Amino acid sequence: MVSARTDDDLFDEFLTQRGHEPEVVEWENNYNKKQCPDCGALHDSAASTCSVCGWDPFR
Ligand SMILES: [Zn+2]
Repeated sequence: MVSARTDDDLFDEFLTQRGHEPEVVEWENNYNKKQCPDCGALHDSAASTCSVCGWDPFR
């Protein structure tokens, strides 16, 4: 049903049409810290995974 589409669906479609990969999730940057996009915890720039929720950008 077309009316059931969400803005997120439209945004993913927008990215896909331009050759971007909508599945990739990166760290958020917040005042020179890395912020976990999953739980919002802040880590220093050396962090590779979230020690709070275990989120891993390469998984
Ligand atoms: Zn986290």
